[in-house]
Amino acid sequence: MENKSKKRGLLIIMSGPSGVGKGTIREELMKDKSLNLFYSVSMTTRNKRPGEVDGREYYFVTREEFDKNIETGNLLEWAEFVGNRYGTPKDKVEATRDEGKNVLLEIEVNGTSQVLEKVHGDDVISIFIAPPSIEELERRIRGRGTESDEVVKGRLAKAAGELKLKDQYRYVVVNDDLLRAVDEIRDIIVSKF
Ligand code: 5GP
Repeated sequence: MENKSKKRGLLIIMSGPSGVGKGTIREELMKDKSLNLFYSVSMTTRNKRPGEVDGREYYFVTREEFDKNIETGNLLEWAEFVGNRYGTPKDKVEATRDEGKNVLLEIEVNGTSQVLEKVHGDDVISIFIAPPSIEELERRIRGRGTESDEVVKGRLAKAAGELKLKDQYRYVVVNDDLLRAVDEIRDIIVSKF
């Protein structure tokens, strides 16, 4: 028989301000099959960006569909972020952890607070990704070039508040260098195996 002790998978919550590089870090982590990660695809009401695929980056839904999911208790957490709603489908997270896979959530800070209120234990790992500086964060958000000036300003204003919440996390990782930050997170995850 193979080694199947059926240890429940970890719940890894990665959060931090918009533009800090969470998405890129997530892509790098997902390449490492030894981490046994399952990325929890969120639901959102925001419009698709060029290149995004429904069911891969997000489940793109209408506001009505989203609110139906709130009402039926289908979301582990949800938050409004600069005019759109984002949420984590609950059942998939639990079922996947039961299968022994480590579930990765990439969500904003209010969502993390909700998850940490509901899910407890040593196997829940919260990681805050911080920018090297707020100036660098602005440069990155503008560099993405996908948002209007108004949205960029909204996201930056939000970032200042988000940065204040970093002490609520078990780990804070500064994304000064992508691969260095990824290595640090990989070490954190492996230390919990
Ligand atoms: P974006 O529009 O740039 O894809 O995402 C905006 C913000 O929403 C990011 O900080 C992202 O991490 C966060 N986000 C994505 N999915 C979820 C989710 O399911 N729940 C919460 N609370 N935030 C999410």
